[in-house]
Amino acid sequence: MDFYVETLFPEQVDSFLRASITGRALTRGIISLECLNIRDFAVNDYGKVDDTMYGGGTGMLMQCGPVYDCWKSVVDNRGGKAPYTVYVSPKGSVLTQAKARELASRDSLLIICGHYEGIDSRVIDEICDEEISIGDYVLTGGEIAAVTIIDCVSRMIPGVLPSEDAYMNESHMSGTLEGRQFTKPSEWHGRKVPDVLMSGDQAAIDEYNRISALVETWQKRPDMLERLEISEADWEKMLAMQKAL
Ligand code: SAM
Repeated sequence: MDFYVETLFPEQVDSFLRASITGRALTRGIISLECLNIRDFAVNDYGKVDDTMYGGGTGMLMQCGPVYDCWKSVVDNRGGKAPYTVYVSPKGSVLTQAKARELASRDSLLIICGHYEGIDSRVIDEICDEEISIGDYVLTGGEIAAVTIIDCVSRMIPGVLPSEDAYMNESHMSGTLEGRQFTKPSEWHGRKVPDVLMSGDQAAIDEYNRISALVETWQKRPDMLERLEISEADWEKMLAMQKAL
C-alpha cells in the first residue's frame, strides 16, 4: 500500500514511521511512504502557506493553493490517479478499528495534516474523500493523527505482522476487548497465572480467553458490552471469573 502525507513537518511523520514494525514493512517494500512538505508548494519565495481569516478570528489558516498543488503533484506522479484522500481533523468521524480495516483494503492513502487554525474549507471540499478524527480533542497539528492512522492501518496489511492471528484476536476486532494476558514468571508478587493457561488443554484455554475478553469489556468498556447479547450461562461464567480475580 502506498501512503502519502502532506504536512508542514515531514520529519515528525517520517521519523516515527521509519522505526519498529512500520519501519521494517517500509524496508521490505510491503508499504511505501512519501512525506511531502506543503511549504515546497508555497505561493511565494518566503515559504508562506497561511494567512489571516476572512470574518476575523485569532490565528492563521492554511491556504488552498499550496495544499492543492502538493496533492496535485502526487496525482500527476501517479499518472493522474488520485490516491484515497483523508483530511485529519477534529471535525471528522472518529477513527475505529473497522475504519482502519476498511482503509487497509485500499491501494493508496494520502493524509493531509493541518496546522495553526486548520485549512481553508474549499480545498478540503475539492480534494478530500473524508475527514477522520483520532478523538474528541484538539491537537496542535495533524501529524500525530496521520501516524496513528498509518500505524493501525499498516498492521492489517498482509505481511506486516507475522500472521493474521496477530491482530484478528485483538481488542476491537470483534466487538470486545482482548482478555487478560500473562507471561513468565507464573507467580509474581503473590499473583498467580490462572492454572488453565498452563494446562495445555487448548479448548479450555480458548474458553478462558473468550470469557476473559467479556469480563475485561464489562469492567473497562461497559458501553461496548451493551452492544452484545450475552447468554445467562456466559454471565454466570463471567461472574465466577470476576470473583476469582
Ligand atoms: N480550528 C480547528 C477546529 O477547531 O476544528 C482546529 C485546528 S488544530 C489546532 C490544527 C490541526 O490539527 C487540524 O487542522 C488537524 O489537521 C489537526 N488535528 C487537531 N485535532 C485533531 C484530531 N482530534 N484528530 C485529527 N486531527 C486533528
